[in-house]
Amino acid sequence: MDTQLFYAPCGYITTEFDGRITEANEMISNLVGEKARELKQRHITSLLTLPSKLYFQTYFSPIISSYQKVEEMYLTLHTNGGPLPVLMNAQERDGQYEYIFVKMKTRDDFENELILAKRQVEKILKDTDYANGELHRLLAELEMKREEIIEANNRLENLAMIDPLTSVKNRRYYEEVLTDFLEKNQRDGFVFSYLILDIDHFKRVNDEFGHPVGDQVLQDLAWKLEEEIREDDVLVRFGGEEFVILLSGINEKLAMKIADRIRGNIKDSEWPHSPITISVGVSGVKSSDTKDTIFKRADEALYFSKKNGRNRVTLKE
Ligand code: GH3
Ligand code: MG
Ligand code: MG
Repeated sequence: MDTQLFYAPCGYITTEFDGRITEANEMISNLVGEKARELKQRHITSLLTLPSKLYFQTYFSPIISSYQKVEEMYLTLHTNGGPLPVLMNAQERDGQYEYIFVKMKTRDDFENELILAKRQVEKILKDTDYANGELHRLLAELEMKREEIIEANNRLENLAMIDPLTSVKNRRYYEEVLTDFLEKNQRDGFVFSYLILDIDHFKRVNDEFGHPVGDQVLQDLAWKLEEEIREDDVLVRFGGEEFVILLSGINEKLAMKIADRIRGNIKDSEWPHSPITISVGVSGVKSSDTKDTIFKRADEALYFSKKNGRNRVTLKE
């Protein structure tokens, strides 16, 4: 081997076709950590790690026999300092094979960095997956809480629309439902009638039997009135001992009959302490009506019922 090749900055080896080393330069002996002359006669695969040896045995011979050269075979040398990745090129020349080995440490480090980066990316993806799962769980929890709040609000709103003494709807609900009924009347010609009912001489009940009995009468009356109406009708405690009924789809003529039936049933029903009667004012709806005007006609009719002896029903057209 000439001096230049012996000291070339890459490993250089020649072998017989059977793989036995005939020449080795200084660089390859430095790389594997053995003197150049000691490498002679050894088989080239003895310089390789076991996986590389298998790889070499599988691919080297077929390629070199077919093409008389092998380009860019990545192998790992078995050296004193541990495995050392190298790039090998080989060719057939003058009845021998000659090989060049270039150190691949930088590439190896780079690959290790790539593997590390890949692992980090995998971890980040896993963490992201977990975070996404958590996020979904929290969102579902949030949605559940939101629904609970809506439900609680609905319950509160319903409570705010209920008269605590009689459990029928209150004045607040009345304002909403009457607005709704009038709008429907003006929009679609929806017919309804307005009844205002007031207990006769209720003050006497309180005076004679006490306020708690008066309360009981109000509760019983509310219950009895509820029994008199259909699902689409509306009963509200308007205030004190006055109730309002909105009769859905009922004209004033029919409303008079219903109001009188109610009045009769109240008078005839059982009362624990003294008989109870009610006076009723009735008005039908007009397309020009507002909440005030429809109430006013019914209230005037009620006043008339009171003035004319109570326990009666009056219509104000
Ligand atoms: P009229 O036949 O003219 O309606 O006579 P009235 O005594 O029923 O009418 P008035 O307006 O003079 O009296 C109504 C009474 O209703 C007075 C009030 O103390 C009583 N009242 C109002 N709210 C309640 C209540 O929640 N509980 C009880 N026990 N009494 C009430
Ligand atoms: Mg009254
Ligand atoms: Mg009264």
